[in-house]
Amino acid sequence: MNAIFWHRRDLRINDNCGLYHAFKNAENVLPIFIFDTTILSKLKSDDQRVIFIHQEVKALRDKYAQSGVNFHVYIGDPQDLIPTLAKKYNCSAVYTNRDYEPDAIKRDNKIEKSLKKKDIKFLTFKDQVILEHDQVLKNDGLPYTVFTPYKNKWLETFKKTDVDPYASEQILKENSTTFPEIELPSLKKIGFDDEQIFQIPSRKIDKKLIKSYDQTRDFPAIEGTSRLGVHLRFGTISIRELTKVALKENTVFLSELIWREFYQMILFHYPHTVNKAFKTNYDFIVWENNESQFKAWCEGKTGYPMVDAGMRQLNETGYMHNRVRMVVASFLSKHLLIDWRWGEAYFAEKLLDYECASNIGGWQWAAGCGCDAAPYFRVFNPQLQQQKFDKDMKYIRTWIPEFDELNYPQPIVEHKMARIRAIERYKKALNE
Ligand code: FAD
Repeated sequence: MNAIFWHRRDLRINDNCGLYHAFKNAENVLPIFIFDTTILSKLKSDDQRVIFIHQEVKALRDKYAQSGVNFHVYIGDPQDLIPTLAKKYNCSAVYTNRDYEPDAIKRDNKIEKSLKKKDIKFLTFKDQVILEHDQVLKNDGLPYTVFTPYKNKWLETFKKTDVDPYASEQILKENSTTFPEIELPSLKKIGFDDEQIFQIPSRKIDKKLIKSYDQTRDFPAIEGTSRLGVHLRFGTISIRELTKVALKENTVFLSELIWREFYQMILFHYPHTVNKAFKTNYDFIVWENNESQFKAWCEGKTGYPMVDAGMRQLNETGYMHNRVRMVVASFLSKHLLIDWRWGEAYFAEKLLDYECASNIGGWQWAAGCGCDAAPYFRVFNPQLQQQKFDKDMKYIRTWIPEFDELNYPQPIVEHKMARIRAIERYKKALNE
């Protein structure tokens, strides 16, 4: 029996659930990756994530080759390619790991339907989370919308075996396959530049850092967080392996991994939150949407040092510290009264670790319009945030070289006025 294994958000061979099952059940497995043109057509040609994916796909190809397995990489629309390839290579099943984003679910449903017509199975597996959307529910069967009770139920539901690794790498070594070799498409052929501007953080799980995470995570000037976001996003590390470390070393770090699953669960159960507020009344907010202020925010020229340092870090590295993400998001949606969706889209374009569910969750939390969000009347004061979390202004001076010069901009809005205006505007929307 022949089968395809389709890599998506799981660019690794080790501890890969779907891959393990494919090799266990089929005689011949063809692992593939598709540069999906329906996604790539929306990106700019210098998108740094595409370079990263290309590098990882190349590394996967080499690793597969060491076990005598040919790995195919295609460019196109998976809805056409998957059924065509399955037929061409005489497959009776297509294996893949589950993706919980609304667009991915729609795509997968369509693929499953067209495969069914050809009598080919579409088999999906849990791989990118420890507990799925339907495993952590309230006693009445409804999803949680508040983090702490969700987390408590998550911990109650979790079993030690949930972090057991899959022996996918070992099983692969015992199976060479007979599919032909095909050329790996270059970045140019995919339509992207190969100039790497952003550095990809290491994928090494640093136990020492995780051990002291609760002490260091809030200070953007120090290397106090794991920087593993991009690797979790593309599955270049295993969530099981990381969670195992978190369970042993640090409960605060474990909580952050649970936040990740909480937001994925929210997006799954409430797909309208992709572009609408979780709390629908907040869609009545009358935004200022001042374009020149948005430009100043994007460029890190608002005259609020914590905001500007964060935006410059994002523009120059594709990363922004979590504490600062909260400050800049709150500033955009409350101080400037610019629609949170503008900021969410800007982050989506720039962040190496961009992940739809966490980005929407983070933005709606900061804008006060999400589930379990900061209440609308709590407006972050960027200056106080800086005094608390960047007391020595080390972070600010790293990203704003002209901070002590006269040419550093004056604040584009006055904090006191902006705070009162935001609270009034939000209150009005809630009364609609
Ligand atoms: P660490 O602090 O080392 O945490 C480890 C991992 O836990 C992270 O890599 C991430 O997978 C997860 N995690 C940590 N904090 C959160 C959180 N609050 N919510 C969900 N998961 C979390 N995270 C993304 O992965 N992608 C996004 O696009 C994203 N957009 C955000 C937008 C806003 C406005 C805000 C406030 C937060 C956003 N986050 C996002 C959450 C968080 O900022 C990042 O996960 C974190 O900064 C990544 O750095 P790290 O890998 O060093 O994380």
